[in-house]
Parts: sequence; C-alpha cells; structure tokens
Amino acid sequence: MAVPEKQEFEDICIRCGGCCGIFDGDPCEHLRRDNEGTTYCTVYENRFGSHRTLTGRVMECVPIMDKLSEDWIGDHICAYKRKYLDQE
Ligand code: SF4
Repeated sequence: MAVPEKQEFEDICIRCGGCCGIFDGDPCEHLRRDNEGTTYCTVYENRFGSHRTLTGRVMECVPIMDKLSEDWIGDHICAYKRKYLDQE
C-alpha cells in the first residue's frame, strides 16, 4: 500500500470528525466545528496521546492508519477507510 507525502495524505481527510467521536455524542474535548460545519482539532500538531472526551472519558489519539482496523460510529464515511481498506 503506497501512502502519499504528508500534505497529500492529510488532504484525503474530509474532516468529518468521526474518528474523534463526533457521531457517538461524546467527542474529544479538542474537537470543534468551523462556520461551514467542518471539524478541526485545536491541538492538531500535538494531538497524539491521551485526551479526554466531553464527559471526561480517556481516549487515545493515534495516527489514522493505526486506527483503520477499528470500528467507530460513522466510520463508513472515513475517507482513509474508503481509500485504503477498499483496496485490500
Ligand atoms: S473519520 Fe476519517 S475522514 Fe473523518 S475526520 Fe477522521 S480521519 Fe478524517
């Protein structure tokens, strides 16, 4: 599986926020929406590691490619799952 350069790889993301828990009602505390409804992370450059959700649950942020085999609510729209898992 060929993974593109960093910016090209990051541009694959559609910023749905699903991997950060937006569809399960208890997202990461650092997840926000902009005026167009697109999600973003307030600590993006330092995102990996332990964080809290809005209710205080501990969650681990990991590189998306390390998370592709996991299931989460709304994961069927994740652009990385669609691109890389559909190739397998
Ligand atoms: S679920 Fe996939 S497409 Fe959506 S924000 Fe996370 S990495 Fe990006």
